[in-house]
Amino acid sequence: MTTVTTDSTATSATPLADARAQLAEAAGVLGLPEGLHRMLATPRREVTVSIPLRRDDGSQDLFIGHRVQHNFSRGPAKGGIRYSPNVDLDEVRALAMWMTWKCALLDVPYGGAKGGVRIDPRSYSQAELERVTRRFTSEILPVIGPERDIPAPDIGTDEQTMAWMMDTYSVNRGHTVLGVVTGKPVSLGGSLGRASSTSRGVVDVALAALESRGLKPATTTAAVQGFGKVGRGAARFLAEAGVTVTAVSDQYGAVASPSGLDVPALEAHVDATGSVVGFAGGDELDGAELLELDVDLLVPAAVEGVLTRDNAPRVRAKVVVEGANGPTTPDADAIMAGNDVLVVPDILANAGGVVVSYFEWVQANQAYWWTEPEVEARLKQRMLGAWEAVSDYATQRELSLRTAATAMAVERVASAHTQRGLYP
Ligand code: GLU
Repeated sequence: MTTVTTDSTATSATPLADARAQLAEAAGVLGLPEGLHRMLATPRREVTVSIPLRRDDGSQDLFIGHRVQHNFSRGPAKGGIRYSPNVDLDEVRALAMWMTWKCALLDVPYGGAKGGVRIDPRSYSQAELERVTRRFTSEILPVIGPERDIPAPDIGTDEQTMAWMMDTYSVNRGHTVLGVVTGKPVSLGGSLGRASSTSRGVVDVALAALESRGLKPATTTAAVQGFGKVGRGAARFLAEAGVTVTAVSDQYGAVASPSGLDVPALEAHVDATGSVVGFAGGDELDGAELLELDVDLLVPAAVEGVLTRDNAPRVRAKVVVEGANGPTTPDADAIMAGNDVLVVPDILANAGGVVVSYFEWVQANQAYWWTEPEVEARLKQRMLGAWEAVSDYATQRELSLRTAATAMAVERVASAHTQRGLYP
């Protein structure tokens, strides 16, 4: 195995260190030349900007934003924009690398990118968030575009954020450019089925993974960490498939009911109160305990680094399906593999979002719109195709699903790079 040294080699437990360790594992399996490995460990381009904000009360604030473009070998860069107080450059680098693998694995014709602004969006008004978004977009304008880099929503951003980004980009270009971002409102060139796509993909793959372990939905229990863009839909679609969802959490707390939560009633409670906490149809639970419940399926659908060497020995789920990006550290992966816990990696499990982002971009570029059943059928076909391909690759080579998925993706990116050749 080759050793990668770059300007920013992370050694502590950070998402970037995790992403690089996963790449190193795949590079070892593939026998990747050291120069190529080093190139793939390092983003192609990074832009860091400051974003001054005029607050509603007339005072001025300042935020730091990043856009990291990890790779362009297979097409334009692609990935979400995150608004969170935890955003930092190394986190965005890791998330951008995972986007490259995700796009390659699902065979969508993109490289990978990610962006983020270090801001807690809950502390700012809509008008302030609009100004932050428009200023951030104009700062990164030279490096984005439908053929360069296509942002999308992520934690803390939504279809309204994408509408502001699209508008800011379009006003500066002098004409409407629908293909510059995905995850837009349907009324503005968004795709039917995009909002639920990540959750649908998670559940398509989760049901296939459960089946591979001989588990049927009607006798399966699940816990879902996170009740946002991914976890909420995942809980709903799991329940619709007949799975008993016994616990869910959000950033404020968790609720559990051994006989199963009424997910539609819980959604109504969240719409009314903003949190799962206080839901009358379940008992309060500590958020960290949710990860260790005695369930068949665990879906971490919140943030990175929640399954670690500390709690992984206590994970009792038989199958873990990663709705979030990077929820499992390499240490935790090894521990869970030793305990026969099947971990379906993020770059496969949560790829439904970028798959339908690709469908949205195709539709926007052609100005020809598909029906929701068409979108969902094509999504399911891609997700299950990728699941089959990764499971076969893993079985044939006796690898974990993560190493198999990463190796397949890295192989595709490396081969595109090699065929294009190095310039100059
Ligand atoms: N933010 C999502 C992800 O992590 C979606 C990215 C996209 O659609 O470009 O996969």
